[in-house]
Amino acid sequence: GAAIRFEDVRFSYDPEREILKGVSFEVPAGQTVAIVGPSGAGKSTISRLLYRFYDVASGRITVDGQDIRDITQESLRAAIGMVPQDTVLFNDTLAYNIRYGRPGAGDAEVERAAELAQIDGFVKRTPKGYATEVGERGLKLSGGEKQRVAIARTILKDPAILLLDEATSALDSHTEREIQDALERVSRGRTTLVVAHRLSTVVGADEIIVLEHGRIAERGTHAELMARR
Ligand code: ADP
Ligand code: ADP
Repeated sequence: GAAIRFEDVRFSYDPEREILKGVSFEVPAGQTVAIVGPSGAGKSTISRLLYRFYDVASGRITVDGQDIRDITQESLRAAIGMVPQDTVLFNDTLAYNIRYGRPGAGDAEVERAAELAQIDGFVKRTPKGYATEVGERGLKLSGGEKQRVAIARTILKDPAILLLDEATSALDSHTEREIQDALERVSRGRTTLVVAHRLSTVVGADEIIVLEHGRIAERGTHAELMARR
């Protein structure tokens, strides 16, 4: 696994307003750290910086000790499996959408990933395997089904780092629990950064960081945070 470090990271989208005001934390290799906090606190900004949609203004982000600005965008993104809140699928077959996780993967691997993500239940098997058309932007699938496709894609990609940005926030509570279980299986033993709105969805994290107005307000395990309330 790969360790992630944020060292006194500052960032603004525009010079008038600083969004991250010196954020430092570490995700040790193989562990799960969750960032929670109110809307607008800067949580998603942290995940965008790790994926390098933007560069930090000051401070630095390292993966295994290496500044991510010194890693090519391509190899950084190859190391990270990102599951966003709303997965947008290609208007193509389900197999195509899953294989996107690792374009060279063979049919058997794609099928195995689909099974591990428990996609079986909603796909009509065809002689070609998972050849079902997903439809325009995946609109034929429910939110939970789309997240399962994202999970299958991630299983196939087998990244060192998992980045979950509100991956279950758009789902109803029953589906949310199912997808959370699936995500927990994928994250086991993998360095995982979770961005979440509610504390109750990240109970199992090794550390929870509470972000407020771009600063770390509190940190600890779920039990530690609850004991202080
Ligand atoms: P539930 O999902 O069961 O409604 P929450 O996880 O939202 O529970 O909240 C559990 C407790 O943690 C509550 O006291 C809530 O106010 C507090 N809490 C939840 N999220 C945050 C957060 N991001 N920052 C600080 N406190 C929080
Ligand atoms: P969170 O994930 O905690 O809800 P975000 O990281 O998405 O918060 O956003 C933090 C702040 O940055 C918010 O005030 C938001 O309006 C602002 N923001 C987010 N994206 C942009 C952007 N592309 N341009 C300008 N401001 C942005």
